[in-house]
Formats: sequence, C-alpha cells, structure tokens
Amino acid sequence: MRTKDLAGYRVVAVHAHPDDETLFTGGTLATLAARGAQVTVITLTLGEDGEVIGAPYQGLAEHHQLGGFRARELACALSALGVEGIQLGGFGHFHDSGMVGSPSHDNPRALVNRLDEAVDLLRAELDVLQPHAILTYGPDGGYNHPDHVAVHRVVEKAASAS
Ligand SMILES: [Zn+2]
Repeated sequence: MRTKDLAGYRVVAVHAHPDDETLFTGGTLATLAARGAQVTVITLTLGEDGEVIGAPYQGLAEHHQLGGFRARELACALSALGVEGIQLGGFGHFHDSGMVGSPSHDNPRALVNRLDEAVDLLRAELDVLQPHAILTYGPDGGYNHPDHVAVHRVVEKAASAS
C-alpha cells in the first residue's frame, strides 16, 4: 500500500480534448492521486472533430454525437484515474478547433477564436483551486494541434496572472 505522502498538495492538469488527460498524463495523474494529492483535470473542448476509428462508431461523427460520447468517456477515465474533472465553461462551451484549414477552425465557438475568454475562465478556476503545480502541453502542444497550442497559451496567461 502506497503512503499518502502528497496529502495536502493540489495539482491541476489542463487539457484540450477528452483522452489527452490519459494519453499525455494518465500515469502521472493516477500516481499523484494514489499518493494523496488532490488532482483536478480541466478540459477545454469535447473533441468533437476527433478522428473516429472503427466501423461501429462512424455514426457518431456523421450525426454530430461525438462530443457527448467523448464526455462520457472522459467521465469514465477520470473515475479510473481517481481524479476530479472540470469542463471549462461547461460541456460544449468551447468547440474543438479542428486542424488549420478545416471548417471548424473558423467556427466562432472554436477555442482558438476565444482565447481571452478561456484565460478569464481558467484564471477563475485556478483562483479557487490554488494548485501547487499545473501540468499542460509545451508550446508546440505535443504535435501542433491548434487546440493543444491554444491550451498552452491559455495556461501560461492564466497562471501568470493569478
Ligand atoms: Zn488532444
């Protein structure tokens, strides 16, 4: 049995899409939580434009159901990791920005077109959570996805201003 040597520490991970919390930081977050830290994942979009793999799931994209499906997946992942979750602005508030050149990139609801609002909302969450550490992507977003790069910039501004 692991000791709760991180009890009293608060860690926030900020991510662009459901599944990033697990793919980029899942092992770290689960370990921090198991050691007693209070871990909160803040997710900015529902990844509505994510690639859909597998025949049984193609209807999710065709009928614009992917975001809700991924919200359920996110809830299951957060539970498995043993961490709390916040959807910045509420579920569906910021839309997936897609890749540069895709129609989603020009959507006024897309995260990339609302960075100042995201900074304000994130700053408010950080003011409440008072984290000792914040985890997110580097300046290139890991692989230059516009939403990942946007999240890096939003975190940098929100954390430096709070
Ligand atoms: Zn992502």
